[in-house]
Amino acid sequence: MKFNITKEQLREIVEFTHQELPCEACGILSGEISGENLIVKRIWKFKNELNSSSRFYVSKEKVDIVISNINKLNDHLIAIFHSHPTALAIPSYQDIKYHLDPKVLMVIVSFAKNKTDIKCYQITENEYLECEILTVNQDS
Ligand SMILES: [Zn+2]
Repeated sequence: MKFNITKEQLREIVEFTHQELPCEACGILSGEISGENLIVKRIWKFKNELNSSSRFYVSKEKVDIVISNINKLNDHLIAIFHSHPTALAIPSYQDIKYHLDPKVLMVIVSFAKNKTDIKCYQITENEYLECEILTVNQDS
């Protein structure tokens, strides 16, 4: 699977998750699937209802609204992103355990050690596999 995203979209995700610090932030990326390529078109942002820096919670109704909007737009659910305010950009045990669907990628933005790092993973039952982030130009 190839994860395609524009520099502008990456910046938007980093800005949003940074703005929510010290809380963990989360959202959904939707877009097109073309063969091996997953192409991000839209960014959906959630408020962390727990106001926690280590856990995240969004009510099911809020997630359902976003999912129904994605369906209406004929978009596909490509990835779920969340931030690690102080941990490295590596999926935690909980991240892997509660990941919904192996077809949906996991994007993690880390602000550990005052550095911004963003990584993408494919999550299977008990493991994670890093998936390359291909930054594409807006027009392509
Ligand atoms: Zn995590």
